[in-house]
Amino acid sequence: MKTELIFLGPPACGKGTQTTKLAEYLKLPHVDTGSLLREEIKNQTPAGVEAKSYIDKGHLVPVELVSRIIKNRLAKDDCKNGYILDGFPRSLEQAEQLTQINKELDEGISSNFKAIYFDIDTSILVERIVNRRSCQKCGEIYNLMFKAPKKDGICDKCGGELTQRKDDTREVAQSRFDTYNRETAPLVKYYTDLGVLKSIDANGSIDDVWERLLEVIY
Ligand code: AMP
Repeated sequence: MKTELIFLGPPACGKGTQTTKLAEYLKLPHVDTGSLLREEIKNQTPAGVEAKSYIDKGHLVPVELVSRIIKNRLAKDDCKNGYILDGFPRSLEQAEQLTQINKELDEGISSNFKAIYFDIDTSILVERIVNRRSCQKCGEIYNLMFKAPKKDGICDKCGGELTQRKDDTREVAQSRFDTYNRETAPLVKYYTDLGVLKSIDANGSIDDVWERLLEVIY
């Protein structure tokens, strides 16, 4: 049985932190479209060059581009027992693409597919975004408000340099919320109607949300 978990929620709702931890816990790959796209940008691939202008504005990159990246990633051997998918789908069109991708890759295999929605008070999220820092080396995420590194600018885990994402500014964050409300929020109803949505209260500490997450994954 393949475990296929996807995650919905507004920017900075804590999905990245929780899904990274969940991937380790379930021994499944953490597939995160934002990181995959940033990697393409870093390597200056044609996909990265195309994606950059959209990401810098807080818009969704074109569906064909992101679906191709996701399909290639989910076809890899390490996804044979399932995946933790963070950041895809982000629109109804992408949800249909994912159904198609799963159909092609899961032929003859049964799967447990769930969409987990992080339900959160959005009023604090812009502050969370501008205070977010991530490690250049290992990808660990920090927040100067509630999960500060022990040493300023240095990753506790690996000693790597902590930096701020270019799209974690107040202006781009607002655009990302607008994109989320317009394109991604309708997926909550979409997956509810399909009978696969699990909603969790994503307010509170990392440990509180983790406990709630463990209650809905099986
Ligand atoms: P994230 O790291 O999830 O906050 O994503 C950063 C940016 O990458 C988003 O604001 C989008 O511009 C782009 N992005 C990530 N995932 C997707 C997706 N599924 N579809 C389109 N664009 C995406």
